[in-house]
Amino acid sequence: MALFVDIVNITVKAGDGGNGCVSFHREKYVQAGGPDGGDVKFLATERMHTLMDFRFKRRFFAENGADGTANRRTGKSGADVVVEVPVGTVVKERSTGRVLLDMREANVERTLTRGGNGGFGNQHFATPTRQAPQFAKPGEKREAIELTLELKSIADVGLVGFPNVGKSTILAAVTAARPKIANYHFTTLQPNLGIVRLGERSFVMADIPGLVEGASDGVGLGHDFLRHIERTRVLIHVLDVAGSEGRDPVEDYRAIMRELEAYGDLKNRPMLVAANKTDLPGAEENIERLRAALPGARIFPVSAATRRGFEPLLHAAADLLDRLPAPEPFYEEELEAVQAEEGFTVEKDGAAYVVAGASMDNLIRSVNFENEDSLNYFHRMLRKWGVIDALREAGAQEGDSVVIGEMEFDFVD
Ligand code: GDP
Ligand code: MG
Repeated sequence: MALFVDIVNITVKAGDGGNGCVSFHREKYVQAGGPDGGDVKFLATERMHTLMDFRFKRRFFAENGADGTANRRTGKSGADVVVEVPVGTVVKERSTGRVLLDMREANVERTLTRGGNGGFGNQHFATPTRQAPQFAKPGEKREAIELTLELKSIADVGLVGFPNVGKSTILAAVTAARPKIANYHFTTLQPNLGIVRLGERSFVMADIPGLVEGASDGVGLGHDFLRHIERTRVLIHVLDVAGSEGRDPVEDYRAIMRELEAYGDLKNRPMLVAANKTDLPGAEENIERLRAALPGARIFPVSAATRRGFEPLLHAAADLLDRLPAPEPFYEEELEAVQAEEGFTVEKDGAAYVVAGASMDNLIRSVNFENEDSLNYFHRMLRKWGVIDALREAGAQEGDSVVIGEMEFDFVD
């Protein structure tokens, strides 16, 4: 059985900025800037309908900016990476679950995070007193980001019900979609979408598979499938009123309602009941029982096999949609710059003071300890970021040992 994929984890990374460079060239100093790294972008496409493709490719890295060279003053920026996803995909930060992008509009490209700025050569640092410092600033580095992609159906109307009650057959009967139909459970492993046309009006209908008892507790495949109903505005609850396979439509109705209730506010979603398989014996009697058991329900007798009874049901759905507000978009949170500039910690370890943090690692990587100008820059950054103050507050005295990354220094106030 092929697994339905509607949630995948991927890793993206914006490109690092290229390093600046300083070099001798025909006996002159030449400085060159490093180009910027590529961005990470997402593009919603109607050509994809599942997240299946991400089974094979899960890493999307934008190109790094090439390092500046003596001959090339500014190189070309690193290429962006564009991740194509089906319309309706929500991009979340894996560690926090925060929604970063809601890719609900077809053919719209969104930028998740930008590449690092390129570094520059010595000219930017040259001062009247320092005419030709041999010093280049490295490009900004970018960290990989772990993401979770979730595909949520953006259908207006969702068909829910037990397996084999006729959801796929109904979708095929009333829309142009051609879902796979077979007479065993869990046949439909992805929501099939189709467009229902009613004169001037039209709406998107989805066959939402796999809703079974216990789904809201995460039993079986059901829990994942419930995700698809979240944004459908109207539910059509399909029942097999012929009672095939020994089913009791009244019992089925209640079991499905329990599932919807357990999954947040779905029980309040406007709902119509499609009493299907009315072409089979026993249907009329069961419809009477349903009407008696569910006095408030709007029950429409239909037969997907003979395509009868759908006009009133579909018009009722369209009427509901006309009155309902458009679905709420997900709230998107801005992803902060991945390279933190300020964050660090100071801890005392024996006689030494240990300064740690991603920004420290980046800084250490960028320093040329053979070069005085580079060391001066390093010291200036430590001062600017408050590291010197923090060390002093922690009790560091002139000459004490300070450890940053793999380097050890004497504290100089
Ligand atoms: P789903 O699991 O809810 O999608 O159910 P399907 O659409 O796959 O239908 C399950 C079985 O019921 C298939 O064999 C269909 O041909 C059959 N079926 C669906 N609707 C009707 C109907 O109105 N009348 C009859 N006689 N059979 C139906
Ligand atoms: Mg089906």
